[in-house]
Formats: sequence, C-alpha cells, structure tokens
Amino acid sequence: MTNPRIINVISNKNLESKRTSKELAEKLTAKGFTVKYQYDVNAELNICVGGDGSFLRAIHRNKFPTIPFVGINTGHLGFFQEILPENIDDFIHKYMNKQYITEEISLVDAEVCTKEKCYYLSGLNEIVVKGARSKVIHMDVYIDGNHLENFCGDGMIISTPSGSTAYNFSVGGSIIYPTLNTMQVTPLAPISSAAYRSLLNSVVVPGESTVALKLRHRHTNSTLIVRDGVEFKYNNLDRINFTISDKKIYKLIFDKNMYWSNLKSKFL
Ligand code: NAD
Repeated sequence: MTNPRIINVISNKNLESKRTSKELAEKLTAKGFTVKYQYDVNAELNICVGGDGSFLRAIHRNKFPTIPFVGINTGHLGFFQEILPENIDDFIHKYMNKQYITEEISLVDAEVCTKEKCYYLSGLNEIVVKGARSKVIHMDVYIDGNHLENFCGDGMIISTPSGSTAYNFSVGGSIIYPTLNTMQVTPLAPISSAAYRSLLNSVVVPGESTVALKLRHRHTNSTLIVRDGVEFKYNNLDRINFTISDKKIYKLIFDKNMYWSNLKSKFL
C-alpha cells in the first residue's frame, strides 16, 4: 500500500474561508489526497485559507514548519495568499503537475536581553521596538558592532524582505523581493532637529549582519516589542540583537509574475 498524500488545510473561521476550505477539501479528496484539518507533521503541503493575518498565525502556531505553504486568499490584501478561491481547480492541476517553484522565505530573529536574561523571538514580517507610552524613545543603533546613530523617534522596525510590503512599507521603507537575503532597519517617525539627529530613511543590511538596538536607561521599562502584530513587554530591557534566522519557511509560487501584479493592483 502506498503512503497517503496528506495535505493540511488551515483556515480562519470566517464564512467565506469555511466555504472555500470545504470546496477545496472535496476537490483534493476526489484527486486522492488525504485532507487534515488538525495539523499533521507528515503532510506534504500546508494550504492556508484566509488573509495575511491567517498566514502569519499559521506560521507561528505551527512553529515555522518546513512543510511548504500555499495561501488561498479570502481576506482583503492577501500578500502571502497567491490563489483566489475561484482558481482552486487550476491550482490543484498545477500542483499535481509540479508546475510551481518553491521560494525560501527568511525570518528575523531577535535576542531580547534584559538585565537578567535573554529571550528569543522570530518574526516573518517584522519585529518592532517602540515606546509603550507614546513617548519619544532613544536608542543607540549598531550594525555589526559599529555605532550608527543615537535614534530618537517613535521606534524602529526590523523588517524581513517578505515583511517589507507590510508595516515597513506604510512608514516609507523600501519594497524588497522576498527571497533576497537582507534585513531592513526602518525608523518610525525619526526626529531630526538641531537637538537630535536620526536617519530619516531605512537602511538595508546584508543577511549576515547583526543589528543591535541598545535602549537608553530611562526606556528600560517602557518599551514594547511587537512581533508580527503581537506585543511583548519585558522588564529591565537592555539591548536587542537582530539577525536573519537560520529557520526558513517555504512557499509554493505558481505564477512568477504574481508578486509584481500584486504590488500594482494592491498598492497603486
Ligand atoms: P492584520 O492581520 O489586520 O494586518 C494588517 C494589514 O497588513 C492587512 O491589510 C494585511 O493584509 C497587511 N499585511 C500583513 N502582512 C503583509 C505583508 N507581508 N505584505 C503586505 N501586507 C501585509 O494586523 P495584525 O494581525 O495586527 O498584524 C499583522 C501585520 O500588520 C504586522 O506584521 C504588520 O506588518 C502589519 N501592521 C501594519 C501597520 C501599518 O501598515 N500601519 C501597522 C501595524 C501592523
């Protein structure tokens, strides 16, 4: 007996997603696949039904699996979600005929050190460091140990290439193609005045670099860390070191032009 070809279907709870998941499961089953709604580590593919938020949650909940992902978009923007619900038949046909490429997607790791110990976070879009109480935050920015600036402003976004079209883009950061090996350091409302001088634009650093943010003393208990939209708070925060993660996730791409048409249709 041959092993079953298992596919995980991970859906959010809205009506359109539930309807799409049901149709998808019926069509996959008719083609001989075994569909699982409870995450199965032996699956060959994860299909995420929903919007970008659902994709981010699916990645975090399942701890950055190496099983490749494809997204069916039932949300608003759908930057991670390539397939439209009306194209399910075409998607299954292309999948079965291996008409896709697999893209490797980088994550950003943060080593968050308080005065007592260090904690570890990974983000798919970005990790943001910002003031918790709407105050200007002051931090020293280092790239590979080189002091770049004493930043003053609302905060700093450390974005991955695939996160470059998210929060990073809204605050004027550059769009970086998802498979490039870089991190982007993007200021949030930087102050550049006679009193304070902060870079107004983002800096794109090589994937091997370490970016460090060292908090000035008065912010050690009033700083928020936001990873892919989820807030974390630490007492006695001292420094955060950011690197491109060794962990990767994998995404199937069925249309190489999709990224560019998405950019145009969604942002222009
Ligand atoms: P959410 O899930 O409602 O997402 C907010 C918006 O960001 C949605 O329109 C979503 O489609 C879009 N988005 C998410 N990832 C994207 C990507 N890689 N490329 C293009 N657009 C993307 O909100 P949430 O759960 O609170 O946070 C998820 C993400 O929202 C965060 O990772 C952050 O990037 C983004 N965000 C954006 C802003 C902003 O643009 N001003 C502010 C906060 C958070």
